[in-house]
Amino acid sequence: MLDDVIAHAREEYDAECCGMIAYGPAGDGSPAEATRVHRARNVYASRKRFEIDGKELLHTIDAFEQEGWELGAIYHSHTHTDPYPSQTDINFAANWPGLEWLIVGLAEEHPEVRCYLIEDGEVRAVELQVT
Ligand SMILES: [Zn+2]
Repeated sequence: MLDDVIAHAREEYDAECCGMIAYGPAGDGSPAEATRVHRARNVYASRKRFEIDGKELLHTIDAFEQEGWELGAIYHSHTHTDPYPSQTDINFAANWPGLEWLIVGLAEEHPEVRCYLIEDGEVRAVELQVT
């Protein structure tokens, strides 16, 4: 799934790609596990910002929930900067408490993927485990 996210970022090199990641049911204290990657359309088709269409967002959350999953993370790419949340990202994240933010950095030859929790304007790195 991580490969798919990176492939998506590379395919849309002219703009920030974005998408949604479903997490399977956690509960016993174990870390959440990604179960599905949904490629979304960036309504801005811009290199500087992204937004997922509201209808697509709701529809996808519905589809995830029908499978017994939940929206766990939103991903997007930074085509020319480090994979660190921008102020725009931090502001946007305020609307989505509890979500994880996966950012694919394409500035270097090898894509760099980072994951964060952004709460109350504070950015915390989250460990990303690929199994
Ligand atoms: Zn960003």
